[in-house]
Amino acid sequence: MIRKITEDQSKGKEIDVLCPECNRSTRHVVRQSFYDHWQSDDHPEYYVQGGTDYQIVECLGCRTVTFRTDGWFSEDAEGTIQLFPKRSNNTLVIKDFYEVPRKLRRIHKEIINSFNDDLLILCAAGLRSIIEGICDEKGIKDGPVELIDNGRIKKITRKTNLQGKISGLAEKNILTQSNAEMLHEHRFLGNEALHELSQPSVKELKLAIEIVEHMLENIYELPSKAKELRGFKGKRKNL
Ligand SMILES: [Zn+2]
Repeated sequence: MIRKITEDQSKGKEIDVLCPECNRSTRHVVRQSFYDHWQSDDHPEYYVQGGTDYQIVECLGCRTVTFRTDGWFSEDAEGTIQLFPKRSNNTLVIKDFYEVPRKLRRIHKEIINSFNDDLLILCAAGLRSIIEGICDEKGIKDGPVELIDNGRIKKITRKTNLQGKISGLAEKNILTQSNAEMLHEHRFLGNEALHELSQPSVKELKLAIEIVEHMLENIYELPSKAKELRGFKGKRKNL
């Protein structure tokens, strides 16, 4: 096998890459590259060859850096392009939460990672566990659940299951009523044992993730931002 390495062969080249921050395909420039070319040498008349260009590319919009590999092989008409961190049109970015308790932050990170890796049942399990975790944190043990019979509300009882706790979050105004209803609609957040669930859809999970992130933002991040803002105002008065 003959191998040849060329540094920065594609440096400065502009290409379109799906940017995880801009959430769409944007113009990127190759900042550095490492091209690895190989060719078989066991048959002088017939040989196969291929190569991979390993690139560090930067989004010209938001400056986010991506590692990109662009490979080809003489026996395969289609090349292979890979991006790290992995992404697709459905990929979610892990948001930085600074004030959220560590335990919840870790679950949140796993929710996003499992979503991005198509581990949808595990992602649903993570959502259930983060909602339980928020309730624990906030001392919510139950909430009002309507018992419906023939489309009519039979009675309202307090329940300690996840359904009850979601209502409990709305009761304490931690979650809006409409968001609580949206979460209730998703069976994967309901009462069923996890192993009995059919796979939740990407769309459902994405919506539930949005609602949970909104909750984290409201409960933990906004109060500290408001405090900071009050600090600024206080300082201005003292000038
Ligand atoms: Zn970008």
